[in-house]
Amino acid sequence: MQNHHSNSNLTTDRPTFVTHLECGLEGDRYESDVIQELSKAGRPLLVKYDLEGIAAAITKEELASRPADLWRYREFLPVRKTENIVSLGEIQTPLIPLSKLQTGSGELLVKDEGRLPTGSFKARGLCLAVCMAKELGIDKIAMPTNGNAGAALAAYATRADISTYVFCPDDTPEINVREIAAQGAKVWRVNGLINDCGKIVGQGKEPMGWFDLSTLKEPYRIEGKKTMGLELADQLGWKVPDVIFYPTGGGTGLIGMWKAFNELKEMGWLQGKLPRMVAVQASGCAPIVKAWQEGTRHAELWQDAHTVAAGIRVPVAAGDFLILDAVRESDGFAIAVDDDAIIAAGEEVSQKEGFLMCPEGAATYAAYQQSLANGTVSPEQSAVLYNCATGLKYELPRADQTLDCTKPIDYSSL
Ligand SMILES: *Cc1c(COP(=O)(O)O)cnc(C)c1O
Repeated sequence: MQNHHSNSNLTTDRPTFVTHLECGLEGDRYESDVIQELSKAGRPLLVKYDLEGIAAAITKEELASRPADLWRYREFLPVRKTENIVSLGEIQTPLIPLSKLQTGSGELLVKDEGRLPTGSFKARGLCLAVCMAKELGIDKIAMPTNGNAGAALAAYATRADISTYVFCPDDTPEINVREIAAQGAKVWRVNGLINDCGKIVGQGKEPMGWFDLSTLKEPYRIEGKKTMGLELADQLGWKVPDVIFYPTGGGTGLIGMWKAFNELKEMGWLQGKLPRMVAVQASGCAPIVKAWQEGTRHAELWQDAHTVAAGIRVPVAAGDFLILDAVRESDGFAIAVDDDAIIAAGEEVSQKEGFLMCPEGAATYAAYQQSLANGTVSPEQSAVLYNCATGLKYELPRADQTLDCTKPIDYSSL
């Protein structure tokens, strides 16, 4: 029967290639296909694949013939059974050139992740985490969030009939708290930061029978975020840009993209130099930048974290060393930008290019400008900035002009 809405990526069974899981720090081996949290060392687990098997099973041409969405990359993903795919339409996000702001021959592109379900790239990670929770029979999930992750979890978990308990700092943007509730989760505001919310989840886990979906405390969010790297390389004709600016909180996306590029390289699908990975943070919460500057492999808890870019207000990251390893291995760097610069950068992009960035996305443009100014990046290098949520989720500058339609209008004054 012909169904105009059927997407063959979501209906066709494909071979899967997960072999096992591995501790990101110690490299010891864990079984896949059973519920796993952190490694024995208390660190994130990474999903390992038979990459030769993937390379033998598919070609770039075959991929190109499939619908352009996250599920195009099925063989690179952990979900075993097609029936466990929970989808809200994870489209391929566009690369938008900022041609007016480009200063040299290196192309300046924004990957606009705001187009995804729930308006942020958290959809990629939570979609995969929820599919795997479904596959592994989990029925109750709890999570701390600065907003967007909770919204994506709520949407996908509700769709999968999994109940969710979400804890946010009390100054989380209003829209996020409401969308979490509207999409069927139980949500509470907590008078602390995301790590304080994480403690509530950690301590409630036993008595409540929750699975803890905190960033990197389960293995599959990274696999969803990895599709940002697969998709970028695919969109650029299996090439990569010189530099990637990534707004870094828990760092799932940066870690995931670096994993994607390395898997593609090992399969022979990418040649030459991989992108320089740049971790962008806000000056009011920059633990990764501090660790990078001091040359340490782990980051210390950042005190009194504050920034307008709520999504990157993460005082301590379980995958700190994975972020720092990726930055160092890729000849990248970590950079902090002030809130004033973030706001000014967002205004410049929307006023000159007609492109509304979220504050975290604007932070990457501020960091790009500063890196050009201090010579760490040259205008001849191509750069991709990640705009990770739609700018419409955030408070916008006021616009208060009024007109009285009962009186003659002085058009010359407009
Ligand atoms: C979560 C989030 C980030 C940070 O992403 P990580 O991969 O967790 O570092 C950046 N921007 C926005 C809008 C977010 O919601």
